[in-house]
Amino acid sequence: MAPEIKFTKLFINGQFVDSQSGKTFPVVNPATGKVICQVSEGDKADIDLAVDAANEAFQLGSTWRTMDASARGRMMDKLVGLMERDLHYLAQLETYNNGKPLKDAVFDIYGAMYALKYYSGWADKIHGQSIPADGNVFVVTRKEPVGVAGQIIPWNFPLLMLAWKWGPALAAGCTIVMKPAEQTPLTALYMAQLSVEAGFPPGVINVVNGFGATAGAALASHDRVQKIAFTGSTAVGKLIMEAAAKSNLKRVSLELGGKSPIVVFPDVDLDKAVATCHAAVFANMGQCCCAGTRTFVHESIYDKFVEKATELARKRKLGDPFGEVDQGPQVSELQFNRIMALIEAGKKEGADLKTGGMKHGTEGYFIEPTVFVDVQDNMRIAKEEIFGPVQQIMKFSTMEEVIKRANDTHYGLAAGILTNDINRALTFSQAVNAGSVWVNCFLHITSQTPFGGFKQSGIGREMGEEGIHSYVEVKTVTISMAKF
Ligand code: NAD
Repeated sequence: MAPEIKFTKLFINGQFVDSQSGKTFPVVNPATGKVICQVSEGDKADIDLAVDAANEAFQLGSTWRTMDASARGRMMDKLVGLMERDLHYLAQLETYNNGKPLKDAVFDIYGAMYALKYYSGWADKIHGQSIPADGNVFVVTRKEPVGVAGQIIPWNFPLLMLAWKWGPALAAGCTIVMKPAEQTPLTALYMAQLSVEAGFPPGVINVVNGFGATAGAALASHDRVQKIAFTGSTAVGKLIMEAAAKSNLKRVSLELGGKSPIVVFPDVDLDKAVATCHAAVFANMGQCCCAGTRTFVHESIYDKFVEKATELARKRKLGDPFGEVDQGPQVSELQFNRIMALIEAGKKEGADLKTGGMKHGTEGYFIEPTVFVDVQDNMRIAKEEIFGPVQQIMKFSTMEEVIKRANDTHYGLAAGILTNDINRALTFSQAVNAGSVWVNCFLHITSQTPFGGFKQSGIGREMGEEGIHSYVEVKTVTISMAKF
């Protein structure tokens, strides 16, 4: 059932407002390809207004700056309570706009609540040190909020990514201008309204819908934004860093793409291993930055693994994301076309297509769960981020070989190993260049644990205590002491 759409404007300084240009753009239901609604289209002029509001809210002496840190935490808790109250509506809205199965949307919203709850506890625990410095001085460090944080998020986990960004920023005492992905602004707008109900002062949280090249670029290059947090493609991550450098050297954190390896040794339960690798790549329609998209299987179990993995993919239930399904549509026609082009490349380059590879149904952007085997490292499907329901299975024989191949990528977001041999697990965990290494599991992401990438998968870490660091400046206060 389609949920009612309650908010479609920009949220600036505590109010829903039209864009300065008066322009709007359509938001599409990916399950049908039909327009859900028009939302206001922000660009530079609206980003300027939002940044003004965020700067005003950050002024010394403002309600936000003078609030007890513990009160900030309680306000965040209140927001979590409101999300829980409206969980069913939020999940429906997420499914309608993003296409993910309703049960996955509910899972994401719990994840978002846990992240905000986790960071609400940090609000009054972000403290500096006293340091026995040389000289007759008393030295303390303070951890101060960096200022206005620009936050640009993608469409694959709209609400979860919002929470990963709002959580540490609010706990640290920053103010926020967020640009949601143009494909999926609806839950962010609803969250903006909940932030009013939770009591956040005007200007602390602003949400400006719009496109990357206009609104996003204006935020990344704004002189009065002190930090930019971005999740999305590596190509755009580079633009963000360039814009930050060319404007005011704002602090940058980037969470980008991946081509993560998952390595299966023969000493594990085969059915369990097949299921873990299946979930690693097919979860969220394959639209996970840390998806396990290079499945390396030991030669001694390769044929059996391929048979079972193919069978499992064939069993995956596709359809209306409001129904009892495992997989909904891809988020947009553009993404659908990108994935189909890579599937064609896989076929052309000689990978063996075991199942899938076709559009599913007649409307919307559904793609059959696809399994390629005998994939070679130099094929495009083994090198490029597909961001779709496409598994690449490759054969390996030794640990030394698989480590080399796992690391042979400019990405380094995640990696997994399935083995019961502790030495193998430790060797791999140490040798692989990845921000997260999972042993006998995959995609196990929590609020308490840092997440981010090596190499071109990003800069900095989100979540856990590490996640706070990019939202604070360290100030050293040195006080000359009177002599006894
Ligand atoms: P994208 O990187 O273009 O978009 C992500 C966000 O960045 C959106 O909010 C977008 O509006 C914004 N953006 C785009 N151009 C910008 C610019 N010049 N300045 C500032 N902001 C800008 O991603 P996409 O085109 O939607 O997807 C392309 C590919 O990116 C996907 O196929 C996938 O491989 C990857 N991706 C990764 C993630 C992730 O979680 N790391 C998420 C989405 C997409």
